[in-house]
Amino acid sequence: MEDPLAGITDDWLRGVVAAGFVPGVRSRVRAALRDLLEEFVAAVRAEPFDPARGARIGAELVDLRMSAPPVLGTTVALFAGRLPAAIAGADGEQGRARTLGPGGEQGRARSLGADGEQARARVLALLETLTTGFVAAQRDAALRAAEQMNRAEKIHWRGVQLDLQQRLQRALLHRPDTGLPNEQHLRKHLAETIAVRSGERLGLCLISLDRYDEVTDTLGPENGVRLLAEVARRLRPLGFLAHLADDRFAILLAGTSGVDDVVKVADRAIRLLAQDAAVTVGVVERAAAGTDPDTWLHDARLALRWAGHDERGRGVGVFEVGRAEEDRRRHRLAAALPAALAAGEFTLQYQPLVRLADGAVIGVEALARWRRLEPRQFIAMAERTGVIHELGRSLLEQAGRAGAARADLRMSVNVSPVQLAAPGLVAAVAGILHRTGMPAERLQLEITETAAVIEHRAVLDRLAALGLRLALDDFGTGYSSLAELASLPFAEVKLAAEFLTAHGEVLRHVVGLCHALGVTVTAEGIESGEQARALREAGCDHGQGYLFGRPRAGLP
Ligand code: C2E
Ligand code: CA
Repeated sequence: MEDPLAGITDDWLRGVVAAGFVPGVRSRVRAALRDLLEEFVAAVRAEPFDPARGARIGAELVDLRMSAPPVLGTTVALFAGRLPAAIAGADGEQGRARTLGPGGEQGRARSLGADGEQARARVLALLETLTTGFVAAQRDAALRAAEQMNRAEKIHWRGVQLDLQQRLQRALLHRPDTGLPNEQHLRKHLAETIAVRSGERLGLCLISLDRYDEVTDTLGPENGVRLLAEVARRLRPLGFLAHLADDRFAILLAGTSGVDDVVKVADRAIRLLAQDAAVTVGVVERAAAGTDPDTWLHDARLALRWAGHDERGRGVGVFEVGRAEEDRRRHRLAAALPAALAAGEFTLQYQPLVRLADGAVIGVEALARWRRLEPRQFIAMAERTGVIHELGRSLLEQAGRAGAARADLRMSVNVSPVQLAAPGLVAAVAGILHRTGMPAERLQLEITETAAVIEHRAVLDRLAALGLRLALDDFGTGYSSLAELASLPFAEVKLAAEFLTAHGEVLRHVVGLCHALGVTVTAEGIESGEQARALREAGCDHGQGYLFGRPRAGLP
């Protein structure tokens, strides 16, 4: 792997030489800089983190007589600009290589993630102490020399120090590529604005360039930088403009009178950049009093994530307190799933499946329950977070145990299409049948009709080969045609409740086709006797719904 730090030492050496400092052999200077860089990187990574180590490195720079202000300017700009990404990149690659193996390459993130943000904060804290250490060491050296200085020399020296401080400020608070205020600067500016304009309202637009990585990958990094400069030029008139990360800009507006003011600015930004780049914008607007920069930036990031799903317009997300709370609640619940599973909080209720001809209960559908959330919601969360695999197995095991003892009932269990995609499902089902003593022919797996089902033909065939029944759940809500159905090993179709409103002729037709394919039909969501009669007349085999019984903890 290429050493991401080597380039920084080279650039640093170039800066040192350009500043007119060449006291020794270049290779020796390079080695010294390399050592200092490594010490700096070690200090960034050290736990506990100690920013004071920066001061010592600053003093060492003075000892090495690399104390001309331009040198420090270069050092700070390089460290602040490139080091966080290099550190995050190196750590991230190792981490990914460990977890993903050879395939990890494609997932490499160019923008800084959480690790990168932490690296950036640590680099900046170290740079602040490095520069104070640097200035202090220089002052000591100057004091020692001062006895020999004349008045003109002293004035010159003061000038040098002031210049140095200004350069430092600039380097610490601005992006090296666009020269715009960086995130730290924006935070400072926000804090000041909140203090000074506490009676006003403020607005913040967080702007993200879509597919910036693609630009740099296909057109080269120079074009990436050119694009950023163009974006900076166009956005500058809109407000206080900051450049937070490669593809992230922010505009702070003071004295706004409502969220619409800020949305207007966001729309203008989108229009102004339309030629060069597609962008997504997160918008926050509120009274300044009692707020802090962290909250502003956090909420703007959240709004940015909502962008594109907002009815106010494509590409703009507007922060709302209620929605943020809902997001937080969902995150907490999603994070709680594994522990809830381990604690046995997921249970099953059973709803009767009834033969329409005579009303006899021929089986039950097992439906998952969790006291903290609706089934549809926690199932979707479990699918998103991957918990569904273990949850699905646990539910199937519960259903198997309950059903094994009841030779008169079919046990119909829901299986998420997500589960079909994971290896090991067939073996897990076989294991559960074996362990629980549930005969395969009394187990039915209900698989929701989605576009993905047809891609899992092989898994479906292997499940059917275990001797169990497969039911296509929620049929009629969209994807597959009866022709596709014919080629898959489904023994049953469950008509979605929406079908209950279908015309009798349509119903008869669909049921007839299913029967012609050798597939039985169950209608879901039957609430009235009238619905049950219509279905019976259409030839539908089985029914399920509140008319026959609600889901309950015990078997009927
Ligand atoms: P589904 O598979 O379509 O299940 C039928 C839903 O209709 C159940 O909702 C049931 O309580 C409800 N229902 C039954 N009869 C009537 C009726 O007469 N009227 C009305 N309005 N509703 C009726 P539930 O239990 O809230 O489950 C919702 C969905 O969550 C299920 O839809 C299924 O997609 C999913 N789900 C539930 N349990 C599991 C599970 O163990 N695994 C998986 N993968 N998904 C599950
Ligand atoms: Ca179902």
